[in-house]
Amino acid sequence: MGDHGPTVVITERCPYCSKWRSPRDILRMTGFTICVQCEQRHIEALAALSSGEFKGECSECGKSADQLRGTGEMAVHFEAGKYRVMCLPCDAIYVMKRRDLYGGTEFARDIGLAA
Ligand SMILES: [Zn+2]
Ligand SMILES: [Zn+2]
Repeated sequence: MGDHGPTVVITERCPYCSKWRSPRDILRMTGFTICVQCEQRHIEALAALSSGEFKGECSECGKSADQLRGTGEMAVHFEAGKYRVMCLPCDAIYVMKRRDLYGGTEFARDIGLAA
């Protein structure tokens, strides 16, 4: 009794949201990994793109489409093969955060980040 070693917490970083997840919450696809939440956001975004109606949640702040109703549009990002939808306030912050990553790229020019 009392012979417990330190608890080892194994986490794995999702390359899409950069959040640390339990390996249980990481999906292993051919050639890439993604967390369950990002995959869910991707599926919601695809549904929104095909139906024109978004029913998911903002991928950054997690507000639901109902909470965001009346605030207008959602922004859709396409990143490393996955879509993610976010509300416009989150989008503005996100694009700033990503400026260093996207600076000088084709994508930056596309979304108007070109210096
Ligand atoms: Zn993720
Ligand atoms: Zn948001």
